[in-house]
Amino acid sequence: MTMAIYRNLKRITDVKTVSAPPTIAWNFIKNNFVFLSKRPSLPRAMCIYVTYRCNMRCRICGIWKQNHPDYEMTLRDLSGVLSDPLFSRLEYININGGEPLLRNDLFELAALFIKKFKHLRTITINSNGLSTDRAISNVERISRLCRENDIRFSISISLHKIGEGYDEIAGIRNAYSRVIKTLRALREIRDQNMFYLGINCVITNFNVFDLYKMLKWSDYEEIPINFTLGEVRDRFDNLDMKDNIEIRGEGRDFLIRFFRKLGRDKSLFNHHALRYKELADIIEFNSKRTLSCHYAMGGLILGSEGLLYYCKKSKAIGNCRERSAYSIYYGKSNLKYREKELLEVECKKCPPNTFNRIELEKDLLKYLKFLIFT
Ligand code: SF4
Repeated sequence: MTMAIYRNLKRITDVKTVSAPPTIAWNFIKNNFVFLSKRPSLPRAMCIYVTYRCNMRCRICGIWKQNHPDYEMTLRDLSGVLSDPLFSRLEYININGGEPLLRNDLFELAALFIKKFKHLRTITINSNGLSTDRAISNVERISRLCRENDIRFSISISLHKIGEGYDEIAGIRNAYSRVIKTLRALREIRDQNMFYLGINCVITNFNVFDLYKMLKWSDYEEIPINFTLGEVRDRFDNLDMKDNIEIRGEGRDFLIRFFRKLGRDKSLFNHHALRYKELADIIEFNSKRTLSCHYAMGGLILGSEGLLYYCKKSKAIGNCRERSAYSIYYGKSNLKYREKELLEVECKKCPPNTFNRIELEKDLLKYLKFLIFT
């Protein structure tokens, strides 16, 4: 009976995000009880910055300033680094940048990940969508490869405003028209190639009053949108862009109302409603984060120069080109930093910008309670 419901869910959800019930149950137990151990388990999820080069000049992110050839591991470098046992249990890979589509060997990188990571289930790519041709050719090839290997594939294109005003955020001319062209071209091949296409909208002072327009556009174009809060981080090289990013005054009040509205849009497959409710609570009442974070459960970030991070707020904990990733990740002083400065301090005030399957599996009861009682 449970399996029949599950099969039906898989049929009606074209994104195929539903794991089998025994897997969900096992992950729920493992994450809520085994996770009590202070030593993180081998990572299941990794975000990999395959380049810091970017063809946009965004006014909310300064990663494009780090354009240095030494900052990019080659396919060969990566093949060596990723043979480390630390990466042996990875199930989810997010390919990020910079602009990943600028790498001429992006397909070969995806093939390398599939070959190296025996437990891989999902590959996602974040792109600025500026180059339509590169997006189409990479997505067609990588999605085919993923299908052949029974791996889910999705691509998320950044779009932070509707209209020419987007060029001001992207810092280059014609960004808006080019990104729209890419989104529509990808939508055309989405069903045939069976991948998930989404929009990532980062909320900052540039677009806070345009969010309803973004929602309407996403509905009309039938491309789902995900809202995340702009963040100022050392690693994003955007400390000098703080005033563009951090929302205050009327914008803050507007944003709280917007998140509250999204938080009321509850349904079984819209688990982000709970994330939006939590974001509203954090902004309005300065409340502590209650939702799980896949990094806190054992995830990692690998920079394009080989630097390793526990999470998006972590300092660099070592370079995998210089010593084993496993010994860096489980190094005594690094684990102490992780526990004392990240888990005990940063996590409490860290806004949830993701609510992926790993996090949802752990927060299953929280989510059901939200659906039924709030
Ligand atoms: S600081 Fe934020 S990103 Fe890092 S582990 Fe905690 S919740 Fe996750």
